[in-house]
Amino acid sequence: MDFNLPGEDDPRRVKVRAWFEKNPNPTYAQLAEQGWTASNWPEPWGVSADAETQFIIDEEIVRAGLELPYTINAIALNQCGQSLLTHGAEEQRQKFLPGALACEDIWCMLFSEPSGGSDLGGLRTTAKRDGDHYIVNGHKIWTSVADEASVGVLVARTDASKPKHMGLSVFLIDMHSPGVTVNPIIDMTGNKNEYNEVFLDNVKIPADALLGREGDGWRIVMEQLQTERVGMTKPGVVWGMGPTARDLMDGLIKTGRISDPLLRDDAAKVYIEGEILRLLTFRNMTNRINGTPAGFEGSAGKMMSSPHGQRMADIAKRSQGASGMIRDPDVLPLPNKKWGMFSNWDYAYWFSPANTLGVGTQEVLLNVVAERVLGLPRDSDPTAKVPFSELSGGLAKAAE
Ligand SMILES: Cc1cc2nc3c(=O)[nH]c(=O)nc-3n(C[C@H](O)[C@H](O)[C@H](O)COP(=O)(O)OP(=O)(O)OC[C@H]3O[C@@H](n4cnc5c(N)ncnc54)[C@H](O)[C@@H]3O)c2cc1C
Repeated sequence: MDFNLPGEDDPRRVKVRAWFEKNPNPTYAQLAEQGWTASNWPEPWGVSADAETQFIIDEEIVRAGLELPYTINAIALNQCGQSLLTHGAEEQRQKFLPGALACEDIWCMLFSEPSGGSDLGGLRTTAKRDGDHYIVNGHKIWTSVADEASVGVLVARTDASKPKHMGLSVFLIDMHSPGVTVNPIIDMTGNKNEYNEVFLDNVKIPADALLGREGDGWRIVMEQLQTERVGMTKPGVVWGMGPTARDLMDGLIKTGRISDPLLRDDAAKVYIEGEILRLLTFRNMTNRINGTPAGFEGSAGKMMSSPHGQRMADIAKRSQGASGMIRDPDVLPLPNKKWGMFSNWDYAYWFSPANTLGVGTQEVLLNVVAERVLGLPRDSDPTAKVPFSELSGGLAKAAE
């Protein structure tokens, strides 16, 4: 079997490379004009690239020295933008997609709340219809890049008389609207504020900011999370992004640290895991080429790749010995690639504990795989069919 991507003479690669030679240092707006910032999307937004072509285009973008668009505007290009293609109105596409594809309008995902991120169905933020507007009140937390974002994908409760998973709706909101307050949360990487908390205080949003139908929010959000989980099955150190076990092995060999027998043993194990994840990525790619939609296998993949990334970052850091305790971006040499913020082992190490939390914790993914993939009996949830307004514990009060 040949597990390599089409080579240098592949006509698709030749065409993309020739464009980059004519257009050195392009802006993301120029890439978007070519349909390459979300190449798998249909025209006019993308070029309906099959998975293999998408990989080729991405490789050429990296070769040209650019960071991949979907690491810069991940929420728009990886998770939520596609919802506009499926559920959005044409005016919404025209309004939101050009800026997102050009990476000029950064999006954020306003899902998790202090009451718990796993139990998204229990969220308390409300959006009440008032004529041709909705009035939004609530508190979101762990919102990545909210401090840079101009568009927020908000999930809020529009009908508390329905059970908790029904009565939710998705909105695309202007993050600069009056009443939106973004407070950064400093995390232990120390490099950049990944997270924020967002207060929504009587925020008035136009009714046409609603994505899809009112009350259809749960379905839309689940689709978005599945797509994101499939993307995270790739073998990079943080959520599929960044250096892989192959890069780790190269670094250990180059620095001679591979000669430590304990380190070598651990490195061999993660190398094997990395190869399995690489093959899983190809399997996902084959599924996409054959038209199979992203399914719950993304949850199993994320469950494997998240601790794999943690083990890799740990080996890289450990290989430095005591000096690894000092912050040092040059833990191991890396190929000259732009992976965005995970382009150094040190940052990846400090970030990696988050791998097993964000976009579904390990425990929640275990449940998904047990119930949806293996067909085991479902976790019992006595609140699932009760109108949200009748639930105790202050939830109902919050939604009134
Ligand atoms: C790097 C990062 C980026 C993030 N970015 C965003 C973002 O952009 N937007 C956003 O909305 N959120 C974001 N989050 C939040 C993330 O979605 C939540 O952290 C996650 O869903 C878990 O929710 P929680 O932290 O409230 O933990 P909880 O849901 O309170 O869980 C606490 C513990 O209980 C366990 N648990 C919960 N339910 C069950 C169950 N049914 N069975 C067994 N165990 C269970 C969990 O596994 C966990 O160990 C981000 C998180 C991280 C780490």
